[in-house]
Amino acid sequence: MSVKKKFTATVAAGAIFSGGFIGLTSEKSPISITAEETQEEKVGVDKKSPENVIVMVGDGLGVGQMEIARLLESGKSGDLFMESLENVGLMRTYSADNAVTDSGAAGTALATGEKTYNGGIGVDSEGQETDSILDLYQDQGKKVGVISTNTVTDATPAAYTASVADRDGQDEIARQMLEHQYDVLLGGGADYFSPESQDGTDLVEEFQSSGYEVVDNESSLEDAETPEKLLGLFNDSYMSYKTDRDELNSEEPTLEAMTQKGLDVLSQDDDGFFLMVEGARIDHAAHAADATGVWQETMEFDRTVEQVVNWAEDRDDTMVVVLADHETMGMSATEPMDIEGLKDIEVSPEYMAQQLATDEETGTFSVESVKQVFQEYANIDLTDQEVDQFLTKIEDNDGEVYAAYRVGWEIGSVIADHYKVGALDTDIRAESGTGGHTGNMVPVFATGAGSEDFEGVMDNTDIIELIANSAKDNNGKGPENSNGKGKDKGKGPNK
Ligand SMILES: [Zn+2]
Repeated sequence: MSVKKKFTATVAAGAIFSGGFIGLTSEKSPISITAEETQEEKVGVDKKSPENVIVMVGDGLGVGQMEIARLLESGKSGDLFMESLENVGLMRTYSADNAVTDSGAAGTALATGEKTYNGGIGVDSEGQETDSILDLYQDQGKKVGVISTNTVTDATPAAYTASVADRDGQDEIARQMLEHQYDVLLGGGADYFSPESQDGTDLVEEFQSSGYEVVDNESSLEDAETPEKLLGLFNDSYMSYKTDRDELNSEEPTLEAMTQKGLDVLSQDDDGFFLMVEGARIDHAAHAADATGVWQETMEFDRTVEQVVNWAEDRDDTMVVVLADHETMGMSATEPMDIEGLKDIEVSPEYMAQQLATDEETGTFSVESVKQVFQEYANIDLTDQEVDQFLTKIEDNDGEVYAAYRVGWEIGSVIADHYKVGALDTDIRAESGTGGHTGNMVPVFATGAGSEDFEGVMDNTDIIELIANSAKDNNGKGPENSNGKGKDKGKGPNK
């Protein structure tokens, strides 16, 4: 097995939603894995593993978020598609150093089977490098890819593809993605590939000259057909919230369009593939207690799950696993929740934050603009006292107004209170290193080849083993090259 040289990880830079601001560092010096060490890995990808694996991560997608999406979308008798998958379980998500994980440690557990500290990416709790399941699939000559509505270099996709050494992590991750020649990389984060971030080097040009087709909007993605390697960067930062795309005249592709292209590229030869697809902005909306955003982002994710399962349905060689990395903000659908009021909101709290006007004299937002924004975008008439409370919450201890995303969190919480959405108190969020993640168990759904072992209560470190070591009938030929690991029940795909 080839072993990639990576670096000891410390903190994913810029991972504002991943709890990266905690500032954990490892005192270990960079360690590369020796061949001897890799033999101790608990999983191996071999002929017994499913030919194609698609892991779909709803970031921050707990059962409360699912219920809010279901109620807003189709009422109490409606269903989400993902609920129809036949194998269902629950998963614990705690990290090596905290009962509540960030997205970096959670992604690392899912991708490598190792618990790490919050802020760590692609390393175990000692800071030692471990290969991800995506690397193991690539080592077997299979195509691999990651797709996210986040920056393609942020926590979850990063945990599958790279490790970072310092606070410039996302720049470094972009360079590692080029070095490892992953076949499909689609998402936001163009800034991290730019000459400004890369000491004058245009990383996108480097990708092109090493054989990648590069696309940057919905139509160029569509026109790309099926190149051998594809890089798509559709936003400088995160891809836009679903709710804001009309307002912003966005030309970004949907998660469904990115995922369909990913499947087309990765499945063009018969060697098999590993694909991770992340609906990342469910978590970002949940940080703001934004039920409207959670609904829109969860429905996009659910439609993508349906598309992927339909694609896989006629095959007996493909496993689809749908799960969350953790829950965010303890969100719940309460009895008095105003469903119609929430459905009428047409932009995200972050967009609203960007519409606020600063009062030159006070240095903070003007009372009139706060009232006007809440009225125009959320149909809420705030009293003077409520505006006062809001203005107090959006300033740090030094009286400085927080960045737009955190102002958005406070706007979202005012809206959630008004429309009776269940969510963590803003003081608890302020005290959380993760910005309001919780330790609630999250749902896991699975279907296809080898998926019948996804049941009961699992730990997030179990997932990689359940994928790689799952038994597969392989059209009645039985598993070949079995190494005795895993649970060989000799069952065929469960359809
Ligand atoms: Zn988060």
